[in-house]
Amino acid sequence: MLSYKAPIADIKFLFEDVFNYYEHYQKHPEFEEATPDLVDAIMEECAKFSENELLPLNQSGDEEGCTFDNGVVTTPKGFKEAYQKFVEGGWPSLPHAVKHGGQGLPASLGMVMSEMMGTANWSWAMYPGLSHGAMNTIHTHGTDEQKELYLTRLIEGSWTGTMCLTEPQCGTDLGQVKTKAEPNGDGTYNITGTKIFISAGEHDLTDNIIHIVLARLPGAPAGTKGISLFIVPKNQTDEQGNIGEFNNVSCGSLEHKMGIKGSATAVLNFDNAKGVLIGPENKGLECMFTFMNTARVGTALQGVCAAELAYQNSLIYAKERLSMRSLSGTKHPDKIADPIICHPDVRKMLMTQKAISEGGRAMIYYTAKLVDEIENAKTEKERKKADNRLGFITPILKAFLTELGSESANHGLQIFGGHGFIKEWGMEQIVRDTRISTLYEGTTGIQALDLLGRKILMTRGKSLNAFAKEVLIFCKDQSMISNNPHKRQMNKFIWPLSTTVAKWQQYTIRLGLKAKKDRDVVGSASVDFLMYSGYIVMAYFWAQMAQAAYEKLATDVENRDFYRAKIKTAEFYFERLLPRTKSLAVTMMADPKTLMQLDEELLSFL
Ligand SMILES: Cc1cc2nc3c(=O)[nH]c(=O)nc-3n(C[C@H](O)[C@H](O)[C@H](O)COP(=O)(O)OP(=O)(O)OC[C@H]3O[C@@H](n4cnc5c(N)ncnc54)[C@H](O)[C@@H]3O)c2cc1C
Repeated sequence: MLSYKAPIADIKFLFEDVFNYYEHYQKHPEFEEATPDLVDAIMEECAKFSENELLPLNQSGDEEGCTFDNGVVTTPKGFKEAYQKFVEGGWPSLPHAVKHGGQGLPASLGMVMSEMMGTANWSWAMYPGLSHGAMNTIHTHGTDEQKELYLTRLIEGSWTGTMCLTEPQCGTDLGQVKTKAEPNGDGTYNITGTKIFISAGEHDLTDNIIHIVLARLPGAPAGTKGISLFIVPKNQTDEQGNIGEFNNVSCGSLEHKMGIKGSATAVLNFDNAKGVLIGPENKGLECMFTFMNTARVGTALQGVCAAELAYQNSLIYAKERLSMRSLSGTKHPDKIADPIICHPDVRKMLMTQKAISEGGRAMIYYTAKLVDEIENAKTEKERKKADNRLGFITPILKAFLTELGSESANHGLQIFGGHGFIKEWGMEQIVRDTRISTLYEGTTGIQALDLLGRKILMTRGKSLNAFAKEVLIFCKDQSMISNNPHKRQMNKFIWPLSTTVAKWQQYTIRLGLKAKKDRDVVGSASVDFLMYSGYIVMAYFWAQMAQAAYEKLATDVENRDFYRAKIKTAEFYFERLLPRTKSLAVTMMADPKTLMQLDEELLSFL
């Protein structure tokens, strides 16, 4: 049986000591209600809901899965009741605009909610997760009427939303989308086509589902320049939102998949379903990016959730499971053998999970602050600055944290030994559930191309240099030449961090020059480059956490062990995980020739 306790102390450490969230909230009058008391109360309540309502449905949801019967989809036992409680508790409205029925609390607080609920039960959390993206899309691109009709009900939780991009012939390459939108002359469109792999595409949690659909208008240009975005409800409604006729969006089947079995992944057939355009004609993909960016940060969070859940359960097991004696001398003479936590190799796996989970959480909460800033910027300059930073960090977050989340889940399975492979412990489920995170919302390969190609080389390194500058300013403030009282202790982090950042910039210039001569350089280097970047970004946050912990050690006597543990985990990260950059540097700089020189026909002699 999986267990989970929301890591409130870790989240508060980031909120209060590392990122100064309350100062950030005070800067924005919109967030005046987000006081420490309210935030604490929300965290406590959310923890209770996640631990008591969602966690118990995690393994049973996997066991039972969603069922499909002649177009009707039923979610696993308990999912609907939990969703009802989620709505009654007002959770869907938390980070959304007051004007449309939301509570107007910051997006960053919504991230705390998503983390706790997602760790307790990712499959269940997919339903509100997809709705959240649909809400952001309608909020950003919808008309007042669309907001009144759809957004208010999504915020209230009485309807849910989806993201309908993928078709049988294309997932990554959305320029191949075929779904058609025929204008009816009255402002509505008839949508016809098949979408596959649609998360929350059909279910029994609510009586309407609002699909956000990519489709082509007649005569639209080929490729991505000819795609528009539509709102297509499962059931038609009148202006007051009363449900009317079925809108010909039928569920053809559910996918039988490796994990997240409680999350319905539907094949949807749109057969002259009535929809309305959202955003300008042929700008659908640009509008959809609002959804995709939300979803990408949300998927990055899945990596952190997996690492946390795997870590918490591995730690309990490693303290209880007895096997042989510690090589450095018996640690528990009262027991027949020492617990496996005494063995360095098991420790290495546990510390890796811990470093990934806590370091990943820091990356997520840093990004959540950027999202708050974009949504509430006072000037266009401020908004653009935060948006550029978000654009740069999103592919790193999405790919790096999901790859590391999968690694942590696998360490969890390994720590359980053979029992990890057995269903009842839940560790193999975490591995299965997490595996999708490196695929959907753009695979690791696609995120890597976005980072190195679009975000870095196409901006001549501007976005990377801006981020590197932020890190180097931090390093200078903590360095031996500063007045920082902890500079001696911080030197072990600052020196490797600043030198790796300098190398990051140099390697990027070299890759840019190489790519001018051979275009395959970008595709050949990109995934290694992204992972290399991820380790440096995480190192920056581990250094910040260590610095905050040193400061607190001097003043907060009661919680010294907590801060010491942060510093020791930072030391582990710098000594055991950051050095992975060294081998990544070698492989990312390698010539693409060894990848491409073997003729396609010579790849196999079968
Ligand atoms: C459980 C689940 C839930 C999903 N939920 C949704 C959803 O809610 N809505 C939705 O619209 N879609 C959803 N998807 C679809 C998902 O986003 C796509 O599967 C994913 O984007 C990859 O697309 P694909 O499967 O077509 O793979 P492909 O695009 O065929 O890619 C295959 C491989 O080729 C690589 N590749 C492709 N093109 C390039 C290139 N140019 N350069 C380098 N490598 C390349 C990819 O990285 C990948 O490794 C879901 C999928 C699953 C399995």
